[in-house]
Parts: sequence; structure tokens; C-alpha cells
Amino acid sequence: MSPYAKAGAASIRTTILRIAVLFTLLVALWVFIQSGIPFALVLDLKIDRVTWLQTLSGWLFVASSGWLLYLLVHRTLNAIASAEEGLKLRDRAIESSVSAICITDNLAADNPIVYVNPAFERITGYSSADVLGRNPRLLQGTDVAQPELLSIRAALRDQRPCHVVLRNYRKDGSMYWNELNISPVRNDAGAVSHYIGVHSDITDAKTHQDELARQANHDSLTGLPNRNLLHDRIERACARTQRFGDFAAVAFLDLDKFKDVNDSLGHSVGDQLLRAVAQRLESSLRAMDTVARLGGDEFVLVLSDHKSAQSVSGELQRIVESFAQPFTLDNQDVFVTASIGVALYPQDARDSEALMKNAELAMYRAKESGRNAYRLYTVELQARVTERMALEGMLRRALERGELSLHYQPQVDLHSNCVFGCEALIRWNQADLGMIGPAKFIPLAEDTGLIVAIGEWVLRTACLQARAWQDAGLPAITVAVNISARQFREKQLLPSVARILAETGLDPGQLELEVTESVIMHDAHNVVADLQAFKDMGIKLSVDDFGTGYSSLSYLKRFPVDRLKIDQSFVRDVTSDADDAGIAQAVITLGHTLNLRVIAEGVETPEQLAFLRRNQCDEMQGYLFGKPMPADEFARLLASGRTLA
Ligand code: C2E
Ligand code: MG
Ligand code: MG
Repeated sequence: MSPYAKAGAASIRTTILRIAVLFTLLVALWVFIQSGIPFALVLDLKIDRVTWLQTLSGWLFVASSGWLLYLLVHRTLNAIASAEEGLKLRDRAIESSVSAICITDNLAADNPIVYVNPAFERITGYSSADVLGRNPRLLQGTDVAQPELLSIRAALRDQRPCHVVLRNYRKDGSMYWNELNISPVRNDAGAVSHYIGVHSDITDAKTHQDELARQANHDSLTGLPNRNLLHDRIERACARTQRFGDFAAVAFLDLDKFKDVNDSLGHSVGDQLLRAVAQRLESSLRAMDTVARLGGDEFVLVLSDHKSAQSVSGELQRIVESFAQPFTLDNQDVFVTASIGVALYPQDARDSEALMKNAELAMYRAKESGRNAYRLYTVELQARVTERMALEGMLRRALERGELSLHYQPQVDLHSNCVFGCEALIRWNQADLGMIGPAKFIPLAEDTGLIVAIGEWVLRTACLQARAWQDAGLPAITVAVNISARQFREKQLLPSVARILAETGLDPGQLELEVTESVIMHDAHNVVADLQAFKDMGIKLSVDDFGTGYSSLSYLKRFPVDRLKIDQSFVRDVTSDADDAGIAQAVITLGHTLNLRVIAEGVETPEQLAFLRRNQCDEMQGYLFGKPMPADEFARLLASGRTLA
């Protein structure tokens, strides 16, 4: 029967008894009136309040009639039994509670434990005998710096309830998370005589909660802090710096050519590499530093407690050098390097967003400088970036504003001494800034993708011009157009060239495409197919800036090119530097061996020309004969029939 059903039955019994007592009283009164037999009065005032009240309702009995006495005794005993039953019920409830219960005696010295239930013994591993007489602080072991303990102390001092979650330790020393509710228990006089502590072991729930929080703040591949946590770490490092007046640094690290690893060895090895890099970075850093992963192959390091920018540099140099060792993945050694950009707090930026942004800019500079290096963010770098952004905006509008034009530089045959062609070179006459050289804006156009539209404009303009000269009755010459790597990658080049030739009606044999050696070598497999397609259309092809890249001779043989252009950096000192002379001679020999024509760029002096002639170079292009010039000037040159002296 439930405690509630029992209580209901007891109250019915009490009512019946009350009626019986009343009835008996009336009978006794009647017997007395009829027979004159005397009666006695008994008042039971002892035991406790419950007994007193119960007894009061049946205080009268007739001495001569024993059954009424029995009723009264029965009632009193019944009342005592039901009070005891209530106590037992509460005892049993406490004993069977799944929460640990611990009662302390506040009136005794040091608030000792006077009772613990079996759940307490189960959760803590301490038996009742172990803990009775001791203060509950034994559960905290040596972990006494928890802020929650201050909350408990304050609540006990103010004699009020409190609720905390804190680390406690079992008898075997293992930690568990305890959700603890402490309540004061007051005696009849209103003083706090005891405290009752209800403990729940919430380790599982807390671990789950912590895991969720960990997942929200950590990268799942490497286990490193992610962007969320990173900002917090940067802010902490900055706050520390403010206090101690030292340096903090945010370093943006990007692996060099990680894409190649992914492409050639597969994504699973790529993932292994990222994990290995994470571990290496963690082991290269000091405990107070942070390494986080933003995603892809981008990591951010937060370094604090540096006394000078030099000491930050020292640490970064160590990190760059740590990449000298290969990473062993799937039983193979993989070499990968990193480019790092660094922004210092407080001098380079004052908040985490700006520090990250500046560090990233510096990282790009490290990439530009040839990778496998670190670069510090500088004010000049910022100025360069601002200028670059402004230039980008202007370049976007340059085409529609008609600010771009082409100049044409004559190319001369060294056997006939006649002009056989020209190279189309772009010029940008910006409204406010004046003439801007291609070296300054072509890389920008490549980075932003603007080169695709610009390149198409150059092709169309050059083809239209060559056709116009021909239509004007001038000698038919080839016009060479520079094609950048990005144009090749975009895959629109082939159809675009075909369309332009069809539109302008220029003979494909009068168009030459100049591709740099690095473009050919970088993506040789794909480029060779495109080059063959151009060749099949009848277009000529030349390798620009030859000698500056890393041409493999076997590759060169497979490329359907017509001409090698000796880079002007070798021509410049060809008469004074034996190495340059050797390279120029080698290129000429190589070209001839492969049945290619060889043209020297940047020929400025008669001595250079003489050298080239001596070494059977086929053609030349340079200031000695003519600078790049506007179309009408070039037309006059062609019309004049001028030849190389
Ligand atoms: P490049 O294709 O190697 O062009 C030759 C560069 O050498 C041109 O510089 C030309 O003016 C310069 N040059 C020619 N002869 C001499 C000489 O005797 N002495 C000296 N010091 N320089 C000489 P420019 O016009 O400034 O072009 C620079 C680079 O910009 C070009 O190098 C080419 O890579 C790129 N470029 C120019 N126009 C275009 C274009 O329409 N598209 C693309 N993608 N790149 C272009
Ligand atoms: Mg060129
Ligand atoms: Mg060149």
C-alpha cells in the first residue's frame, strides 16, 4: 500500500474511533443516570503532540466498563504506531534515494558528518564508518582551489541553501563531478542544527556536455582549437601582454603546395599530413602558446610572452626549420614546407580580427618571396596592399574606359635583317596615375582573374591590327601575343582564339602565342594538349623567357613549339659574363638541335648583336632596333622597309 493510501486508511479509522468514543460516552452517561455507578476521568498528557491530540478526543472512560478503557489504549497505541510508521517511511526513503545524502551536525565542532546513506557510500566509495565524525571537505582531496568552494563557504556562513557543481574525489582518488545541494535544517528553537547535502554524480552528463563544447571549439581532424577558440586565445594573449608589457604574435601558417600532395597522394594521405603537421607544430611550441587550424592547410599560431620582436623571429625560424624533416606517411617520406606571416601585438594591430588579417597578408608575402619562409607584417606591406586594392578597382574599369592599348615591338631576322614580326605588349594609361607598366598590373590581373578578359581584348586587338596592316598593303608579318598561366587554366582560351581568328579573318599562321617556360612546365600534361590544338590550327608557338624556368629537355621535345626566346636577363651581360654567354650559346644550340628558331630578347648594343650573330642566333628583338611603339608608328616602320644595319 502506498504511503498516501495508508494515511487515508488511518484517518477513516480515527473517525470511526471518534464516533465510537462519543457513542460509548453517551452510553456511559446513560448507565450513570440509570444506575448511579461512579465513573473516572483520565487525561493522557504525555509522549508527544500527536499522542496528546489523539488522546484528547477520547479522554473519558468508565472505570467499571473495561472495553471503553481498551478503546482508549488502542487509540493511543495506534497513534504512536502511525507516527513511527511515518518516521520509518522517511528513513526508508532516504536510504533508498539514488542521490547521496550526507547530514552534518552544525552544533558540533567542525560540522562533522553524522549520517550518510547507502548511495553516498556507493558514489564516493567511503563507508559510513569511514566518514562519520569527519567534515565533508574530505571529498575535495587536494583540489581546494575550486571557486565553487567559496560559494559553499559563503552559504554556510549565511546559513542559506546553496547549489554548486564541483569536482569531488572518491576513496580510490578518482574524480567525479558532483552536483551538490546543501540545505540548512533548523531545530524547534529556529537554530541551524544540521546541514543536509544531496550529492549527485553527474560525471557522465558533464563529460557529454564537455565533449559537445569541445567539438564546437575544436577541429575534428587534428583536435586543435578551431576558429572559435582561436579568437579567445588571441584575446587572452593580448590581455596578458597588456599586463606584462611584452609581445604577443599571431602567425598565419600555410603549407606550400599542399594541393600537390592531395592531388598526387590522395586525400587520405593529405589528412594524415595535416594531422602530422598539427603534432609537429604542437611539439615545436611552448606550453603557453596555441596552435589552431582554420581549415584546409591553414594554421594559426598564437605566441605570447616574448620580450622582443627578435625573440618572436627566433621562434618562427625554428618552426620553419622544423619542416626540414620529412613527414613519414604510409611508409613514405613526404617533404612539405610552410610559409608563415606574422603580426605583432600591440604594434601591428589591436584586435584579433585585424591581427589575423595582417598576419595573413604577411603570409602571402612569404609565399611571394619563394615560400618556406616567414615574413613579419610591416607598415610598408600594408601600404602595398592598400595600393594594390586601389589598383585592382582601377584595373576593373580600365577596359570599359578604353585606358588599355597595345604597343608593338619589332622582331628582326638576323639573316635577312628584315622585320618579320612584332610582339604585342600591353600598356595602361591610367587617367590619374599616367602610364603603368605591365610588370605592375599583369600579376594583379592574373591574381584577380581579370587577365581572362584583358587577355581576350589583347588577342582581338592584336589580330585586328595585324589584319588592318595587311589590308593597308603592308608586308604580312606575325604578331606575337603573351598568354599568361591563368588564361591556360581557365580553359576558354582555345575557343576564344578560334573565335577571334574567325572574326578578324587573320591567317592563323600570322598569330604567335608566347607562353612562358614556367606555364609549360607547371602543368605540362594539360598544356601539351592545348598547344597541339593551337598547332593544328596553324598558329605559331614560342617559349618566352627561356632559361629562367626548369625546362626538362624530354618535355621540350614533346612540345610543338616553333621558337625559343632567350630571356633578356642572359642577353644583358652576354658580352661581359661568361656564364650568361654560355647559357645563351647553349640555348641557341639546343634550339637548333630541336629544329626550333631562337630569338634573343632585350638586345640593346651592337656588341650583343655581334655576339648573337657569331653564335648563329636566328632573330633579335630589342631597343637596338626598336622599342615597343604605338600601332601607327609601327606601320610607318614597316612601310619604310627599314632593315637592321
Ligand atoms: P616579355 O613578354 O618578356 O616582353 C618583353 C619585355 O622586354 C617588354 O617589357 C619589352 O618592352 C621589354 N624589352 C624589349 N626589348 C628591350 C630592351 O632592349 N631592353 C629592355 N630593358 N627591355 C626590353 P614590357 O612591355 O614592360 O612587358 C613586360 C612583361 O609583361 C612582358 O615580358 C610580358 O611577360 C608581360 N606582358 C606584356 N604585355 C602582355 C600581355 O598583353 N599579356 C600578358 N599576359 N603579359 C604581357
Ligand atoms: Mg613576351
Ligand atoms: Mg620575354
